[in-house]
Amino acid sequence: MQQSNSNPSPTQATNILNHFIQSQTSIAKYFQNNGSAQELEYYKKQFIPVNIPYDYIVGYCEQVITGGRQFVEEIVEIFEKDFKIAVVRGGNNLTFKRFAVISDSHCGESKWYTKIPKVDVVLHCGDFSQNDHGPNDVQQFNNLAAKLKNDGKCSQIVCIGGNHDYHLDYRRNSSLSNEKSIDMIMNQKKHPLLSNVDYYLQNTSIILDGSIRIFGCPITPFDMAFGASDHVSYDIYTQCMDNDCDIVMTHNPPYNILDLAGMGSTQGICPTCKTNHPHAAHWGNFWLRNQLIHRVKPTVSVFGHVHECCGYVKKSIKELKEEEQQQKTLFNIQNSANLILGGDDRTPITFLNAAVDMYCKVYFFDFYYTRGSKLLI
Ligand SMILES: [Zn+2]
Ligand SMILES: [Zn+2]
Repeated sequence: MQQSNSNPSPTQATNILNHFIQSQTSIAKYFQNNGSAQELEYYKKQFIPVNIPYDYIVGYCEQVITGGRQFVEEIVEIFEKDFKIAVVRGGNNLTFKRFAVISDSHCGESKWYTKIPKVDVVLHCGDFSQNDHGPNDVQQFNNLAAKLKNDGKCSQIVCIGGNHDYHLDYRRNSSLSNEKSIDMIMNQKKHPLLSNVDYYLQNTSIILDGSIRIFGCPITPFDMAFGASDHVSYDIYTQCMDNDCDIVMTHNPPYNILDLAGMGSTQGICPTCKTNHPHAAHWGNFWLRNQLIHRVKPTVSVFGHVHECCGYVKKSIKELKEEEQQQKTLFNIQNSANLILGGDDRTPITFLNAAVDMYCKVYFFDFYYTRGSKLLI
């Protein structure tokens, strides 16, 4: 690499980010057919930088920017505060896994299957069934899971259910309401009907590679599969979601984050988001949001359910807390003492609504981690 003249840090930080995205997404072995130019262009748009190794920033500064070592801390701050990309320290022990996320696939594979890049892990955030609730939909998803692996798209699949996946819910499917099936679901994190899915999460979590904790939760407020009252959802989000989750998979979005759906309505300017959305309402869950911001602080929060809002946003804890102060007044919170407050303001969270049904876009990210960091001693 050529040494460049020292520029103001924001410009250098942008250069580093672009270089990072370029270097991550041009790893040809990760793409189907070794990545045509067109594919690389598409995938570059669908790639979300969620975290970056500290050493990558140091290396770039030392090699490319004249006297760049002095800019490192300033650039780290720009990454965390402005780009909202977590900076991970871990030296030579750092490695990454690549994740693609889909949700609300509703048996429509033909529309988006080719858009899934080759990754390590595919996450599915629920609602792979169509409305007919039939066992065939579950079978079809199980076949899709096998196809993803056989086609070399991924080596592992982690999924949760959604409100349309009636056949997965042991409260709704009598063939599952026996001790053996429930033990398999809750303790082994496997679903009896999804033999090709590596982990099935129902208010439970797993740790991948001894390092990456992923929590999964299928609930929504609807009286459908995995329906849960506000009271029950509070218990689940507060008691089942571990403190050290890196990736949180839920079917429902957190409140006011990519959660505007065209059912329900808000009169006039919405006091929550300050926009006018007369034909839509916020479907997200306030307790989920509150726990994510103040306690769990995962690097990534992935969800679906609201087809209209596929995409991602990055927010710092500081911004999220400020928004929450405004939202508190909107809620009929019976026990506001349950609201927890805390958290490091600099920590950024990437929120991804991965519903593929409407826009057929598949997002993916690389998660950097220290191998074995969550191994039980
Ligand atoms: Zn609103
Ligand atoms: Zn749904």
